[in-house]
Amino acid sequence: MSTLRDITTADDYDPNSMPVDQARTYIRTILTPVTAVEQLPIRSALGRILATDVISTIDVPGHDNSAMDGYAVRHADLKAEADVTLTLIGTSFAGKPFAGSVASGKAVRIFTGAVIPAGCDTVVMQERASVVDGKVKLGAGVKPGQNTRKVGEDIKVGAVVLRQGQPLHPAEIGLLASLNIGEVRVYRRLRVAFFSTGDELVSIGGTLGPGQIYDSNRYTMHGMLTRLGCEVLDMGVVRDTPEAVEAAFAEAAAAADVVMTSGGVSVGDADYVKQMLDRLGDVLFWKIAMKPGRPLAYGRIGKAHFFGLPGNPVAVMVTFYQFVREALLTLAGQTDVKPMPTFKARLASPIRKAPGRTEFQRGILAPGADGQWEVRMTGDQGSGILSSMSQANCFVVLPVAQGNTAPGELVEVQPFEGLI
Ligand code: AMP
Ligand code: MG
Repeated sequence: MSTLRDITTADDYDPNSMPVDQARTYIRTILTPVTAVEQLPIRSALGRILATDVISTIDVPGHDNSAMDGYAVRHADLKAEADVTLTLIGTSFAGKPFAGSVASGKAVRIFTGAVIPAGCDTVVMQERASVVDGKVKLGAGVKPGQNTRKVGEDIKVGAVVLRQGQPLHPAEIGLLASLNIGEVRVYRRLRVAFFSTGDELVSIGGTLGPGQIYDSNRYTMHGMLTRLGCEVLDMGVVRDTPEAVEAAFAEAAAAADVVMTSGGVSVGDADYVKQMLDRLGDVLFWKIAMKPGRPLAYGRIGKAHFFGLPGNPVAVMVTFYQFVREALLTLAGQTDVKPMPTFKARLASPIRKAPGRTEFQRGILAPGADGQWEVRMTGDQGSGILSSMSQANCFVVLPVAQGNTAPGELVEVQPFEGLI
């Protein structure tokens, strides 16, 4: 399945009652990732997606070296059940190897990371050694090769170290540095244009008229998109008139890879927005069987992908986390995008829920008195209670069939701190 038409002609397609997983699958099928590439110094590439495989041209480590401070020896000189005394002939420091080779009966003082001297194959840790008059007495029972690290044991020449489509986190940046790679090819950032719609919205600094509220969605959207690594284009508040909304959509679609909006896709608004989007592109309007976040519009406007999120502040965040995050990572060139992980935790306060929809309630996950993870609900679960998202550190994911749930039962939690 690869077009919107394929989706709408599927046997089980019902835009008015779309299961969460089905919406995820449909969205995944028609994403076309960014292909443009840029070359960046590795420090600037943090959070970006690799556009090529990275192959090592060196062994890491480049030489056999010591994993401990101690004494480098020939294992054949040691005894299984008795101490031996060897003559000390020098020292191997990290970055300053011992120059000679070590004959039978001799040992070299060695430090962590220092090259194993020629002739030696084993390191006896210093806690098992004592030095008297230029000789070292070494304990029994040391195994061959003990306390040494072998050349190439981390990475071998020719190994594929990192894969195209992989995000670069601090470990990957360090790994690149360990291979003497100073620049990498990454996909260009995904450009996302976004705006909020609504006659009731006032931006920060404005004065509220009767019935007006401050626009919060544009700020949560800005934050979520920025943390995901997108290049953001904030197009402000757009009034609920066909002309204003149409002009904003046209401008956004021309400027960005993705257009994201909040509000204006619920039943009351959908008619003129729908007609206009039909003219500008190819957009599906879904009622998702979830709470919060029921209305979601998805499709193409010109070449841009489009996500029309609901207006309610919690619904914006839930739909972003549940649908848009994965899609944007895929569009940015990341392969192997996984949903946010979930696990079971014990419920510490009651949950009210009617069967029929998947719910993403807000919870606070913390260790209980017995050390097991326990989740407490944030209180009012209305889709306008943005403070619940701020108090929470996880979603409590309640499946369609689930009803009220009592404390002590296990529920599925999805931590969201640090993930977006
Ligand atoms: P809508 O989907 O446009 O009908 O909006 C649903 C609810 O979300 C209404 O109560 C709106 O006032 C509210 N809402 C819509 N957009 C925003 C926004 N940008 N910031 C805060 N609340 C909003
Ligand atoms: Mg509205």
